[in-house]
Amino acid sequence: MVRLAGIEIRGVSEGGIQTCLDLPEVKMCFDLGRVHEWAVPRELVLFTHAHMDHMGGIAAHTALRHLRRLPPPRYVVPPENAADIEALLEAWRRLDRSRMECQVIGLGPGAQIELPNRWIARPFRSPHRVITQGYGLWSNKHKLKPEFAGAPPKEIRRLKSQGVELTSLVETPEFVFTGDTLVEVVEAQEVVRKARVLAIEVTFLDERVSVAECREKGHTHLEELIERADLFENEAILLLHFSTRYTERQILGLLEQRLPDKLKSKCSAFVRSLQTRD
Ligand SMILES: [Zn+2]
Ligand SMILES: [Zn+2]
Repeated sequence: MVRLAGIEIRGVSEGGIQTCLDLPEVKMCFDLGRVHEWAVPRELVLFTHAHMDHMGGIAAHTALRHLRRLPPPRYVVPPENAADIEALLEAWRRLDRSRMECQVIGLGPGAQIELPNRWIARPFRSPHRVITQGYGLWSNKHKLKPEFAGAPPKEIRRLKSQGVELTSLVETPEFVFTGDTLVEVVEAQEVVRKARVLAIEVTFLDERVSVAECREKGHTHLEELIERADLFENEAILLLHFSTRYTERQILGLLEQRLPDKLKSKCSAFVRSLQTRD
């Protein structure tokens, strides 16, 4: 469990093995590479893509929720994948002879969905080997319009009683998760650079896998993030999806050694010690 810029985050992430990011206060999670106990209560899951390490737990999650008599879950998926995921679940229903009720929602860039805590999630395209989408999460609060800022409370009350619209809805990008992606998502999506908290993959960290090889696999290399150090306006950055060829010590050592101060001060690494094991 880790708290970054006021947002609590837990989960697991090991490249190629499993990724699941949970935001307990938002009451939703991203991806289900495998199903962990803390993910079972999540009625809403936003999936980035259909690679096994991100979606392998989908059928087990439905079945476990059914077993616990919890309401059917909702799974947000890239629209291009929705029919295949439905077919997959349908096959499991036949094999398992159970209803495994759930709702598969194809939701692509340009659309949005309200989250249990009233934040809004909007998908965007992340370039990867298969269809992939990241998600930006926005909070929205009614705030006093600038022209009324500093007005005495009596005046505010008077205007309010006259039915004057004193507030406007202000959206703040709170959190963004890229999913698996090439680094170009940083330039392509403003929310990736501006959300208060960014969770971004960085699968390879040194010359054991070259930048070219990393790109062929559809992933981001530490070298590429370092080159873009000036672009990140985020308050905090969570690096995740490290290849299992690196030990926890190596990950922390390489980040310490290679990240420029500007990035180091806001980066955390999602390694085992930050993960919730069950
Ligand atoms: Zn992955
Ligand atoms: Zn992937």
